[in-house]
Amino acid sequence: MTQVREYSNLIGGELRPASEGGTLDSVNPATGKVWAKIPRSTAADAEAAVEAARKAFPKWSGMPAAGRAHYLRKVAQVFAENAKELAELETLDNGRLITETAKRDLPGMTYLWTNAAAECSAAVEGRSVDFGPASQGITRREPYGVVLGIIPWNSPISTLSAKAAFALAAGNTVIIKPAEQATVSSLRVGELLREVLPPGVLNIVSGLGDEVGDPLVRSRGVNKVSLTGSPDTARIITRASADTLKPLALELGGKSPNIVFADADLDKAAPGVTTQAIFTANAGQICYGGSRILIQRPVYEEMLGRMKEIMAGIKLGDTLSPETTMGPIVSRDQYERVTSYLEIGAKEGAELISGGRFGAELVDEVHAEGYWVEPTLFATEDNSLRVCQEEIFGPVAVVLPFDTEEEAIKLANDSIYGLAAGVWTTDLGTAQRMFRRLDTGTVWVNTYRKVMFPLEGTKESGYGNDSVLAYTREKAGLFEF
Ligand code: NAD
Repeated sequence: MTQVREYSNLIGGELRPASEGGTLDSVNPATGKVWAKIPRSTAADAEAAVEAARKAFPKWSGMPAAGRAHYLRKVAQVFAENAKELAELETLDNGRLITETAKRDLPGMTYLWTNAAAECSAAVEGRSVDFGPASQGITRREPYGVVLGIIPWNSPISTLSAKAAFALAAGNTVIIKPAEQATVSSLRVGELLREVLPPGVLNIVSGLGDEVGDPLVRSRGVNKVSLTGSPDTARIITRASADTLKPLALELGGKSPNIVFADADLDKAAPGVTTQAIFTANAGQICYGGSRILIQRPVYEEMLGRMKEIMAGIKLGDTLSPETTMGPIVSRDQYERVTSYLEIGAKEGAELISGGRFGAELVDEVHAEGYWVEPTLFATEDNSLRVCQEEIFGPVAVVLPFDTEEEAIKLANDSIYGLAAGVWTTDLGTAQRMFRRLDTGTVWVNTYRKVMFPLEGTKESGYGNDSVLAYTREKAGLFEF
């Protein structure tokens, strides 16, 4: 793609540039080349978006649930009709492979919006409680008002959809603030939905976190904030929202353990911990990546051998080719962060089992300026190392041996994070005990990274989720007669 296209915000049903005229470059991480420009919005744009969302709220929230469902089904249809284009944009924008965006993400969005349409009725269900012959309690669910969804760069369309679809189904109006590293697909969604949703019901405002995200978070016109992002940003947003005491939902990072017991089916466990759990899953840039692989000692060497073989077959390169199995890192900053951990791991004394290279030598000339890191596996027995404790958010994992179930639980839970865990075993008793005792929001047994219901973390992985009920609050009434 040679032409650099400029995209606009969606505010109050209009496509608008940033009010101060600023733009940011959007870089294709596979080639390192600028391929689009996005608005660099500021406080004035934040204010305009809040005003538009507030103006649209009475009519949208006052509509019968069936009316909102009708609109959301139309949105689902837009995703179905434009799936190919949106998948390609997302791939160019953040380096997520076309095999992932076209086969997994976009088909999932049609389902998600249709599902949100079906759940509109759950948002208007209340309870009735009998307190005696002349006293009846009732509840009704109400939307918060204006919901701000702040999203990360690693899976923009899915995260935008998870927040917007359920917040809208519940009767809120919505402002989405995409991540500056990967905004284009969200702005294209705005263009496509401009004619589908009433003006101001969905607004999309692009720019930097501190320039436009912060004024949105602080605004009295915003009634709830849902962030998917890093714990550091979550701490900033928690402080910024303190003055207005608004409710938050924080879906944050992880350092998830993927645990292989000696009785596991190794034909499943070896690819299970090496491919879609981490390396071929968006080059490890997924919040619930299984980046700490715990292996019971009797099968430790055999598993390492199998994992090395699988990793050697992972193919980097053209993100639009179905042959490629792992893409680049999203941006230069993130590339530098990920590669710094290769040095940190070596300095800490972790043993390099496989990988460790990065840069142009991994790909052809066309991709030489992209941000490439080889799938890399360290081994250690010391879970206190930084490579075991810190979220790297790239194709770097660490393997730790263990002897007993008790030790596996202790190692797995020895983390500030608690997003997800995987367990590979053929013993149902082991699986059930691990499910109960792992301090994480999700546990997968003999699989990893499949549908989750709900997705919610523990500890510094955050709290709250994206569901219709999470975007409503329950109001109580007591009637005496
Ligand atoms: P990030 O925290 O740097 O940015 C997330 C969003 O916050 C961006 O839109 C950014 O512009 C915005 N932001 C930054 N500062 C802000 C401020 N002061 N006020 C308002 N908004 C601000 O995260 P990232 O690097 O884009 O994404 C990676 C992180 O997201 C990882 O930690 C990953 O684990 C996490 N993540 C979690 C989930 C989940 O569901 N739990 C899913 C995907 C990603």
